[in-house]
Amino acid sequence: MFKGKLALITGSTSGIGAGIAKELAGKGANLIINGLGDLNEINQFCAKLQKDYGIQATYLAADMTDSDSIEQMMKKINHDLGGVDILVNNAGIQFVSPVEDFPVEQWNRVIEINLNSSFHTIRLAVPSMKQKKWGRIINIASAHALIASPFKSAYVAAKHGIAGLTKTIALEVATDGITVNAICPGYVWTPLVQAQIPVTAKTRGITEQQVIDDVMLKAQPTKKFVTIEEVAGLASYLSTDIAGSITGSIISIDGGWSAQ
Ligand code: NAD
Repeated sequence: MFKGKLALITGSTSGIGAGIAKELAGKGANLIINGLGDLNEINQFCAKLQKDYGIQATYLAADMTDSDSIEQMMKKINHDLGGVDILVNNAGIQFVSPVEDFPVEQWNRVIEINLNSSFHTIRLAVPSMKQKKWGRIINIASAHALIASPFKSAYVAAKHGIAGLTKTIALEVATDGITVNAICPGYVWTPLVQAQIPVTAKTRGITEQQVIDDVMLKAQPTKKFVTIEEVAGLASYLSTDIAGSITGSIISIDGGWSAQ
């Protein structure tokens, strides 16, 4: 389905990004894997993708906090690999704190990774997509692009920003064969969510089980975590030709959370 296409998935060394990488590889896309982690493990992940799916998987270690590093990665992709066809802006972090104690450097870091990095990858990917008259930009936002939760001011601000960026770029490239959409998952069981359980328990003065039942799954009428495979399946669908009229959309996949 995506044979001959090149997909860049930021933050694809873990969680949702790794799931999207597998899904797109399974449909024939060549991949740029990006993200933090142990280099041996990342190389093994790329080798397994190549072996399992018969595609090319290249690791580029750009730091999503650093615009120069992103620019170098995108230049390399444009010059050496013919440009990105499917751009999935997925890298993200969370930081939980009451606003009056929110460390300024953590605020800046969340905004850089969760919002600014997508501006940089998009601005540097769009020219080659325009030349090819085809492109797919998928921003992994969050239910927090639509709804707020206390103590997540930077994350909610960044994700609401991503929704605005998605709509704006969709309008700018609408006649170029490029679609731009945001996927808004509810809680997905990944390292990002697991890491915030103890800190949320401490901030709210409740147990870790209460965080799962009364904070996370309370918000989701299905009472289930969204799966990585469900998010990856939606990203894959948005990358197809048949999804060509879906653009500027902010798409929820949250077990009914935002319907309330
Ligand atoms: P994760 O922690 O499993 O993965 C995050 C990825 O981002 C990792 O590959 C990590 O290495 C990468 N990353 C972090 N800092 C980076 C940096 N400076 N430079 C490059 N890469 C960096 O988390 P996840 O849950 O898979 O989250 C992926 C995306 O999905 C995020 O944007 C997150 O906000 C969003 N999301 C997650 C959930 C959820 O419940 N897990 C819900 C809604 C949205």
